[in-house]
Amino acid sequence: MLRIKRVPTVVSNYQEDETENVSRSTGCGRNCLNKCCIEGAKIPLYAFKKLNKISGSKGLCCEYENSVPPVAFLDSLLLGEWEDRMQRGLFRYDVTACETKVIPGKYGFIAQLNEGRHLKKRPTEFRVDKVLQPFDGNKFNFTKVGQEEVLFRFEANENGNTQFIPNDAIDLENSPSVVAINVSPIEYGHVLLIPRILDCLPQRIDRESFLLALHMATEAGNTYFRLGYNSLGAFATINHLHFQAYYLGVPFPIEKAPTKKIMTLKDGVIISELLKYPVRGLVFEGGNTLQSLSNSVSDACICLQENNIPYNILIADCGQRIFLLPQCYAEKQALGEVSAELLDTQVNPAVWEISGHMVLKRKKDYEEASEENAWRLLAVVSLSEERFQEVCALIFEVIDTVDAENTEGSSSMPEEHDDGCLKEVEARNNTTRPLPMTGTKECLV
Ligand SMILES: [Zn+2]
Repeated sequence: MLRIKRVPTVVSNYQEDETENVSRSTGCGRNCLNKCCIEGAKIPLYAFKKLNKISGSKGLCCEYENSVPPVAFLDSLLLGEWEDRMQRGLFRYDVTACETKVIPGKYGFIAQLNEGRHLKKRPTEFRVDKVLQPFDGNKFNFTKVGQEEVLFRFEANENGNTQFIPNDAIDLENSPSVVAINVSPIEYGHVLLIPRILDCLPQRIDRESFLLALHMATEAGNTYFRLGYNSLGAFATINHLHFQAYYLGVPFPIEKAPTKKIMTLKDGVIISELLKYPVRGLVFEGGNTLQSLSNSVSDACICLQENNIPYNILIADCGQRIFLLPQCYAEKQALGEVSAELLDTQVNPAVWEISGHMVLKRKKDYEEASEENAWRLLAVVSLSEERFQEVCALIFEVIDTVDAENTEGSSSMPEEHDDGCLKEVEARNNTTRPLPMTGTKECLV
């Protein structure tokens, strides 16, 4: 079994004193989300309307064309509540004071100096060779966070429109899906989406949970707001199902990379391959419904999980493009195949780093940050071309390709966007409502 020493990032203020006895029925005194304290708790509810009918091929956001989108509300709710928690001093450090810069070069990698994120070390043995591991209630999990870390519940309104209920009592029969702060944020508005929190699901993708994450991206409707997912073995630090999300006011380098179409599934989902990017990956977009897009991605994830292949996901472009990135950094690390130079940086290449937002822990690395260095790190994260093709074959086997308009073969023209893609991303960003930056952070753009 492969084991490496890992320093987990503290994502909740309750993560470090988990040895306390929390089994008293009168409440553990921490006002947590566990059975001891949840009874009678009231947490605001953002109930979204399930959007599933897509008209035209322009994408998933177009259903809002003829009506006023509730998106401004989700943005302002999320950021308003997030800032409130910042005022209340719930974060471990002030992320808005972290130095950030765009690294000169073609891709515009973003470097952040974050010296606070890995303080308060508590080394633990972390198993990295199994993507699927059972939930362990004795280890830290999100039922142990304080209710003040929760911003609101995010759930589908099964029979109606988008709705917000400020003081909604929790129904313990239906495990709530919640949005909570990440107390070690790496950017403005960094939150966690925890599907059906009380069901204590391990970190693994299923169709329903992935659809919830996709709904959050479409509901936010802001291209600066992305969701990410790290599987176990791909730098998830907590084995309790969660997505992360934050605002970044510039395109991620991965969003600018050209792509080549591989196939169109019968329900209209297009799968492409990333080109000219250090990490090999697939891009999913289109689809007749949000659910078809969601199902294709989650089926691919389930395939990777079952084959014990660690991976990361980035949900970008308001849920219209999803990047799936199998990776092997932890495996190489455990096998001693990562250079000491890279290990010294202590950079954990999770979804944000892979997408091009390099969170650096040492001033030296920040000052010396270059496109070449970022590229070198990410190249180690990537599967080899041969292995990547094997993994793609596994995925395509399980994804429904019946009636697919298959474009495989040498005659098809690659649909490269190359530099035009960058303009496209920028154009899209320009047409989006500007990011409500109410904080003190300097905008990158
Ligand atoms: Zn409690």
